[in-house]
Amino acid sequence: MCERAIRPAKRFWWTTLSMPTIKLATCLSAGRNSQRPDQIKHIYMNLIELEKFLKGQPSFRARQVKAAIFKNLIESWDEASPLPKDLRESLKKNFSLEITGAVMESKDKKTIKAAIKLEDGEIIESVLLKHNDGRNTVCLSSQVGCPLGCRFCLTGKMGFIRNLEFFEILIPLLFFARHLKKSEEKITNIVFMGMGEPLLNYDEVIDAIRTINDENGFNIGARKISISTVGIIEGIKKLAREKMQINLAISLHAPNDSLRSQIIPFNQSHPLKNLLKTVSYYIEKTNRRVMIEYLMIKGINDKPELAFELVNLLKDSLGKLFFVNLIKYNATGDYQPSDQKDIENFKRILEKNGVPVVERYRFGENIKAACGQLAGDCRRVRFRDEN
Ligand code: SAH
Ligand code: SF4
Repeated sequence: MCERAIRPAKRFWWTTLSMPTIKLATCLSAGRNSQRPDQIKHIYMNLIELEKFLKGQPSFRARQVKAAIFKNLIESWDEASPLPKDLRESLKKNFSLEITGAVMESKDKKTIKAAIKLEDGEIIESVLLKHNDGRNTVCLSSQVGCPLGCRFCLTGKMGFIRNLEFFEILIPLLFFARHLKKSEEKITNIVFMGMGEPLLNYDEVIDAIRTINDENGFNIGARKISISTVGIIEGIKKLAREKMQINLAISLHAPNDSLRSQIIPFNQSHPLKNLLKTVSYYIEKTNRRVMIEYLMIKGINDKPELAFELVNLLKDSLGKLFFVNLIKYNATGDYQPSDQKDIENFKRILEKNGVPVVERYRFGENIKAACGQLAGDCRRVRFRDEN
């Protein structure tokens, strides 16, 4: 079953992003002025190496370079006009601004999935969701794979490969920001709901958020950024103490320990009581509303009695500052999404009992682009330049 779920999708367009034959890839390319990767030292973007390289320069230069990359979204060092010519030349010889990846677009063009290749060959995936109201949300990954192995999650099935560095977390964002710039659009919202458990890579995720926030970076406010977690207690406590107004989402998916432990093995050693106590601490400390995510998986967690159980659990432990987000599961082979009538019934029970609830629109179904479903396909397809 799992094999079938991760077979490469036929509609993937694999290319380095400067190949002229691919329409979407071309518009995302590094541009005519960019150098071919074989002429430069670091052929993948590596901000840690870049930072080392800039050590001998006055500190304002590092700020200018950062602003050129993340704010002005340059695709060639020639565009970094505030920098002196000799520095630009030297940067050109040493650091590529090209992002290597593949893209896939949904039929309605509202969802774009990107698979980005990192310096060590690992691939991370990210999704851009274009909403009708003008918001453009990017779903980011925090790890390659995930150690938590939730039964319904393709990333979980990959196992854990490694944590991402802060700048690697940002590469997909840069990729989509450059793409949107062509139509004078911007990224407005960020969700850490891609591959991996963000609170198990806490420091790098927070560093990435600082650049997302920074006015010399992406300049996106913390209130527009959401972190989703399966429930890493220490991470939630740390987040509660950060002076950042990020949104917190908890992947609950079940109202009791026996069901939750079946689908989320992590719950076996971290029962709901501890998780909800910590969420309650977070709410008290930040006065922020927490989102409770509840995937609707057919025959597993969608029975009416479980909706009543969820009402009691949440009202008893969280008070008022929360809402439930019912999310239709994206089929992976092992599990199926609930029927719409069961979702509506579940929702009605929550509403009637005073629990605020929303139902998330299902984006990118035909390209397997559900956040949290970002794994599998890309690892099995070779890039054209490797053939
Ligand atoms: N590790 C974090 C964040 C990444 S997963 C977490 O679990 O919260 C982001 C969300 O996608 C989670 O709520 C996860 O349960 C959900 N998800 C996983 N597989 C999915 C699928 N096939 N369809 C829809 N949502 C899925
Ligand atoms: Fe990891 Fe989240 Fe997937 Fe669970 S749902 S395996 S925590 S990425």
